[in-house]
Amino acid sequence: MAENQLGGQQYLVLPEGASRLLGKEAQRTNIAVGYAVASIVKTTLGPKGMDKMLVSELGDITITNDGATILEEMNVEHPIAKILVEVAKTQDKEVGDGTTSAVIISGDLLKNAGNLLDQGIPPAAIIKGYEMAHEKSVEILKGVASDVSIDDEKKLAEIAMISVGSKNIGSETTKRALTKLVIQAVKQVSMREGGKVTIDRDFIKLEKKEGASIEDTQFINGVLIDKEVAHSGMPKSTKNAAIALLDVALEIEKTEVDAKIEITSPEQMQAFLNQEEKMLKDMVGKITASKANVIFVQKGIDDVAQHYLAKAGVMAIRRVKKSDMEKLAKATGARLVTSLEDLTPKDLGFAGQVEERKIAGEQMIFVEKCKDPKSVTIFVRGGTKQTADEVERALTDVIGSLVSVIEEGKYVSGGGSTEVEIAMKLRDMATDVGGREQLAIQAFADALEVIPKALADSSGMDPIDTLVQLRSKHKSKDGKSFGIDVYGNRIADMEKLGVIEPMKVKSQALSSATEASVSILRIDDMISSKGSRPSGPGPGGMPPGMGGME
Ligand code: ADP
Ligand code: MG
Repeated sequence: MAENQLGGQQYLVLPEGASRLLGKEAQRTNIAVGYAVASIVKTTLGPKGMDKMLVSELGDITITNDGATILEEMNVEHPIAKILVEVAKTQDKEVGDGTTSAVIISGDLLKNAGNLLDQGIPPAAIIKGYEMAHEKSVEILKGVASDVSIDDEKKLAEIAMISVGSKNIGSETTKRALTKLVIQAVKQVSMREGGKVTIDRDFIKLEKKEGASIEDTQFINGVLIDKEVAHSGMPKSTKNAAIALLDVALEIEKTEVDAKIEITSPEQMQAFLNQEEKMLKDMVGKITASKANVIFVQKGIDDVAQHYLAKAGVMAIRRVKKSDMEKLAKATGARLVTSLEDLTPKDLGFAGQVEERKIAGEQMIFVEKCKDPKSVTIFVRGGTKQTADEVERALTDVIGSLVSVIEEGKYVSGGGSTEVEIAMKLRDMATDVGGREQLAIQAFADALEVIPKALADSSGMDPIDTLVQLRSKHKSKDGKSFGIDVYGNRIADMEKLGVIEPMKVKSQALSSATEASVSILRIDDMISSKGSRPSGPGPGGMPPGMGGME
């Protein structure tokens, strides 16, 4: 009867072709979809995790291990799948690393919630239990974390190596060399104020070009710009560069002139051209008067102005992106000038060398040897575009990892050890809480253990046996940093192995995973207008064979 009533309402309110899922059916479907999405990235977790190859509609290929990239490139259409993609994106934005973990924890939170629903526990109780468990787990996390400072090179190197460890971008030696570059870059742009260190990730530029080996990736103490010198008569290399940054067009605005002058004779035309040339010459005069010998211009440079600049020996680069102008300002100390009238020698910046070099058939401008630049570049290389892309993604993770651990000053042990520790302590707490929430807290604890289980699985260990061993180890004294030694196929002390990670990677993953699963559980009614498909995995939604639960 009730169903008929609902059907009737639907018929009245919703447009033709719309579909609707209600109550348990909506929750079940959403949980299945969420879990299916998480399962896709699960096998990529950790250094022994596998890569995914993604082929776009246009045939572009991406080979990656990066959770955020995989989910983004999959172009999932299902709204619930999109929530999980958001989890990965948020993690990427806030921390830069830990995207896969965040998504697979969300998946298991959902799966376990599904089991509780089956036992008749109402969604509200699950949600409440999950939120309590989340709050408590952040507390536990803080309790097990240790301090680290920007001057602790050894710890930073370990953290960087763990972050890059899961990416297939070459040997241990290559990875070590790459992480060294990142540490150098992060330290260079860091700002200390009082006891606090802040780092703006935007000022570590990753510029990439294929056509050389990963080992050729280099640190540039300054900015690398994908542009060329404007005119062939200009110098291609300038030492001790005095740099002006101009947000000015070195051109005559045509419309402005047309409006004022009506040309009726060839003499007038000549006079007009002379006038125009004089204006451009004057512009160049103002630049040379400031003693600038290299200029970066955000807008265009007229041919005539280029000619005069070349004659004066000034190297000019035009149509430079605004973001690059900001980086140049930070690197060279130059001030961005918006009117030539304002340009004075004080506005100029400095670089030991500005040079145009040909890289893989294209010109690039190297602004190097800056004095204590607060903006630097890592020039990423790789044999193919795919490799260079994956190196870039790996370095983005390392940068994110280092920035968050330095800013927060806290790290925890990896290899699933922290997740097991939190899970154990949560279970203790759950018994004090009692009731239905107790079951939800236990389910939350179980979900965290998906991390050690997936790591064990990836190295061929039995996930359940290993988890049992880990739990018993964590009950003993000095057992709190025991996790999966993926290379030794055993459990071991992660801290001693140097498997450590920023606390922020874990805390952010816990919050976004909790938030996503709770918001999915709150949905008990899915109404989709014609054309969209809320009813589970299907064309455009999920790849075949990815649906369903374990
Ligand atoms: P994410 O996108 O979540 O960062 P990764 O593929 O980078 O996914 O895997 C991260 C997980 O792998 C973390 O739990 C981390 O502790 C673990 N891990 C990384 N390196 C090692 C290692 N050498 N030994 C054991 N676990 C490791
Ligand atoms: Mg990682």
